[in-house]
Amino acid sequence: MENIIELSNLRKVYRIGNEKVVALDNISLDIKKGEFCCLLGTSGSGKSTLLNMMAGLEKPTKGSIRIKGQAVEKMSEKKLAKFRQEHLGFVFQSYNLLPMLNAVENVSMPLTFKGISKSVRDKKSRAMLKAVGLATHEKHKPSQMSGGQQQRVGIARAFVAIPEIVFADEPTGNLDSKTTSEVMTLITRLARENNQTLVIVTHDLGIAKYADRIVHIFDGNIEKIEIINNSGEVSNEEVGSVLHDSDAVPAGV
Ligand code: ADP
Ligand code: MG
Repeated sequence: MENIIELSNLRKVYRIGNEKVVALDNISLDIKKGEFCCLLGTSGSGKSTLLNMMAGLEKPTKGSIRIKGQAVEKMSEKKLAKFRQEHLGFVFQSYNLLPMLNAVENVSMPLTFKGISKSVRDKKSRAMLKAVGLATHEKHKPSQMSGGQQQRVGIARAFVAIPEIVFADEPTGNLDSKTTSEVMTLITRLARENNQTLVIVTHDLGIAKYADRIVHIFDGNIEKIEIINNSGEVSNEEVGSVLHDSDAVPAGV
């Protein structure tokens, strides 16, 4: 299968005055189209930095990020903004909905950048709200919804334009365990239906179990990678071999 995200020797060092923080040390990772990849690690291990870098929200100190074969770290702000609108969707831990807008208007946001007429935007957004089980909440503002409902609006917004890649940073971090499993089932279903690539950051092993692969992040490095097969069995992947599988000799040759 084709790699949609290719990270090579990524390093990110933050400087605050004379202090240096190595948020990412040296990360190389390929993610395949349609894969559900989970970045798992404790707080401060570098997960958000890694996700933000993949999403083009931060520049690496060293290394390269290729999405769909294009070097993201080399793009101008303008090109990057367009690239994000065309190919990427985001789900945030704190939902990041616009408080003055109702559910349909929030979900429509990614479509407004695409020059789609209001009537079509509304239609798509309503269909998406229905898909996340919120058909009865179209006119509700964020403050009139529970955390789980707000996150479902956030998910509808991330998926409405059917981006090829959806990034989510601790999407269930503010939700109770029942709502967490509902939200995870929903995200997984939506992504699978459209063969979208999903990259989720979490510190919760329970969430990681929904993924095809768990990439364990520790102190800014990949500690190990686990592959979860269809029957839910977990096996270890040797980091060195997966990272360069394009160099590998195909089986049977
Ligand atoms: P995680 O998401 O796994 O909790 P982060 O990627 O947010 O971890 O942070 C990794 C490390 O980088 C932490 O030590 C954090 O304090 C540091 N860090 C993250 N963002 C910044 C920033 N903007 N400026 C300085 N240090 C940062
Ligand atoms: Mg984080």
